[in-house]
Amino acid sequence: MEKPELLAPAGSFEKAKVAFLYGADAVYCGTGALSLRSRAEVDNDDLAKTIEYAHSIGKKVYAAINIYAPDEMYSEIERQVAMLNKLAVDAIIVSDGGVIDTIKELAPDIPIHVSTQANSLSAHTARFWYKNGASRIILSREMNKEQIKNLIQNIPQGLETEIFIHGAICWAYSGRCYLSDFLANRNANLGDCAQSCRWAYNIYIEEKNNPGNMMPIEEDTNGTYVLSSKDLCLVKSIPEIVEMGVTSLKIEGRLKSEYYVASVVNAYRNAIDDYINDKDNYDYTKYLKELEKVKTRGLTEFFFQDKNNKDFQEFDGKQYNPDYEYGAQVLEYNEDKSIIKIGNKLTVGDKMEIIIPNKINVEEFTINKMWDTETDEEVDTVNPGKLGQSVKIHLPIKCEQGWMIRRKK
Ligand code: SF4
Repeated sequence: MEKPELLAPAGSFEKAKVAFLYGADAVYCGTGALSLRSRAEVDNDDLAKTIEYAHSIGKKVYAAINIYAPDEMYSEIERQVAMLNKLAVDAIIVSDGGVIDTIKELAPDIPIHVSTQANSLSAHTARFWYKNGASRIILSREMNKEQIKNLIQNIPQGLETEIFIHGAICWAYSGRCYLSDFLANRNANLGDCAQSCRWAYNIYIEEKNNPGNMMPIEEDTNGTYVLSSKDLCLVKSIPEIVEMGVTSLKIEGRLKSEYYVASVVNAYRNAIDDYINDKDNYDYTKYLKELEKVKTRGLTEFFFQDKNNKDFQEFDGKQYNPDYEYGAQVLEYNEDKSIIKIGNKLTVGDKMEIIIPNKINVEEFTINKMWDTETDEEVDTVNPGKLGQSVKIHLPIKCEQGWMIRRKK
């Protein structure tokens, strides 16, 4: 049993740095408008910086070109593949056979990871992709644990597997969906999903013999969210996932904030390491408690434990706002007055928690005093954008640049 890779989203260089700081082994990001989160694309300078930085600390970067591409997009695809080859990216994530062929031709040394968008569900499909040049298969989210185990046991030894362990899931079959295209003219298969499944819908029935008498169907006073899914969370099942030998565990969310990335990566980093170090005493509740401190749509194990699970629909359509929110990020630690970048309104008396990389226990403290960064005068309240983006406070423990601080609401 090898230690699996923890793979985090990186919608920007800053997010990649936060992901690595909190324990990600690798990050994935987009390229131009050619991945399935075209609104979360890092520009090429950002991508070059991310790759250079990752390699300098022994980590990896995977770039996604996982759209289903019509012919007219291939000149741009060729340009991006050549650029990624020059930057020595660690792999390209792809769905489309035509794009795979292009990579094999222009950049034969770059490993190919077949995207979850390709809906690989079986060892048969995995072997097909392996014969066609893939080094890793990102499995379909719709598989349960028995199917994953069976697949791993029936694929060539050199073929890696990756599964999603946390984040948003599609109402449709992993992105094979035209809802957004139909309702918002934004094509999910070209990376521009408007997340139409999260919207509230008015639904009516009309009795055939009584046309025009439209009777509304409503779930409750929150609205009618018949298409919205909860978020995937497999922290409880980390022991089984590690034991079955999945190569890489992926967190969804290239559009999510740095605070989200730090919180989720840290929880899973600790969960994986703690399980490997002490297999008999894995207690998922402490990691789940941390995951529940960031916004979710409700959490579900989806089909991992039970293919008949029906508990993945988020009927409220709400983001569950926990009792915590992003507070600040450490810019400069000093024993008496540290400088922090403000992420939300902060007031003297606020209760805060420092998220410590590679530790699941946070450091709690109360803000007793704050000082203006420029004038050093005491201030009671700061808002992002008013006193500038930073303020000085006393931190109770030695912190490093980039550490995240959350605020109790
Ligand atoms: S609209 Fe919803 S189900 Fe469809 S691709 Fe977008 S996120 Fe997935």
